[in-house]
Amino acid sequence: MIPVAFDYQRATTVDEAIAALSGDSKILAGGHSLLPAMKLRLSQPAKLVDITRIAALKGIKEENGEIVIGAGTTHGDIAKDDLIKTKLPFFADGASMIGDVQVRNHGTIGGSLAHADPAADWTALVLAADAAIEVQSSSGKRIIKATDFFTGLFSTALEDGEIITAIRIAVPAAGTKTSYQKFVQPASRFAIVGCAVMRAPDGKTNIAFTGVSDNPFRDAGAEAAVSGKTLDNATISAATNAAAAGVSIMSDHYASEPYRRHLAKVYLKKALQAVS
Ligand SMILES: Cc1cc2nc3c(=O)[nH]c(=O)nc-3n(C[C@H](O)[C@H](O)[C@H](O)COP(=O)(O)OP(=O)(O)OC[C@H]3O[C@@H](n4cnc5c(N)ncnc54)[C@H](O)[C@@H]3O)c2cc1C
Repeated sequence: MIPVAFDYQRATTVDEAIAALSGDSKILAGGHSLLPAMKLRLSQPAKLVDITRIAALKGIKEENGEIVIGAGTTHGDIAKDDLIKTKLPFFADGASMIGDVQVRNHGTIGGSLAHADPAADWTALVLAADAAIEVQSSSGKRIIKATDFFTGLFSTALEDGEIITAIRIAVPAAGTKTSYQKFVQPASRFAIVGCAVMRAPDGKTNIAFTGVSDNPFRDAGAEAAVSGKTLDNATISAATNAAAAGVSIMSDHYASEPYRRHLAKVYLKKALQAVS
């Protein structure tokens, strides 16, 4: 289908993009979620503000004890980055599992987080990494903890006029282990179930799921079952028994509610075995 007519403005700075945003406008990043929605007329913005040429939104650096990923950095660039491969290897693995080469070359981490697809990969990864989402508007900058960012199906804590500028993650302590495991939808590669785990040397373990519910989530029950404990078979089994307890599980033509619940346990087990 063909989208409804819209205006287009290319911004070259974040301030210019913010100034260009008005009531009925949308940011255009990689376009791999927005353009399909516009073609289906599920989204009908009056204006697109293109942020793809804003250099300040691209790149990955270590700064004051944090790894800072520009919101406009593509999945492909994150997958290839040496700092990410060394310090946040599950980000590199997760990024390399997104879609196909075209999607990875254009799709951005900021666009994926703003879109908040319930089957997206970045959502679980930023939750497990305890990331902070940096956003900017005409009122200035603010930081939103990843755990406060996702508010429901395709919904986030972003307010009108706000642009995600960066994703900030405290540099993990030496010896931290990470894993991202997903059961892929075979055509799109979206996560039917994805499980991200970050385990610190002291045993503190963050566990997050995507694809399971209409909102990505940290699994407090599974985390309590393994945090600070040796990851032997009994502990892993206790965690998988606790996985997604009390969570409302999605059901669709790819996977029923009981099958998804089963997959959550299987993929948590794989991720915990990978960090043990
Ligand atoms: C065939 C196909 C397969 C895919 N497979 C996967 C997969 O396996 N896993 C996965 O996770 N995803 C997958 N995706 C989605 C892909 O990762 C998208 O790139 C991503 O969801 C959106 O990022 P984008 O940069 O393309 O954003 P866009 O499509 O440009 O924008 C998406 C939304 O975010 C808003 N937005 C964009 N950037 C910002 C910003 N900086 N601040 C605030 N709002 C912003 C836009 O206004 C829009 O509402 C797939 C997509 C396709 C088409």
